[in-house]
Amino acid sequence: MRVVVDLSRCEGYAQCAFLAPDVFRMHGEEALMYHPNADDAQRDQVLRAAAACPVQAILVDRLEGPDVPLEGPDAPAEASPS
Ligand code: SF4
Repeated sequence: MRVVVDLSRCEGYAQCAFLAPDVFRMHGEEALMYHPNADDAQRDQVLRAAAACPVQAILVDRLEGPDVPLEGPDAPAEASPS
């Protein structure tokens, strides 16, 4: 899974380091270090950390685009009025 922290938003509250210590770690008082390619086994903790971040600085799986194509034959069908 891909993890990105917007460090311009991060205020160093360390909620993430508390909830997902294998992925996020505080380095000193305010600097956050994290694994951008976290193991999928960490998904639940990472999602909890992202939800708990007071400034919504943690983005999960946003860089690689959607798994489901939005156009083409595999795209989800739009509901049509009956
Ligand atoms: S919880 Fe959010 S603000 Fe706090 S250290 Fe983690 S990313 Fe930064």
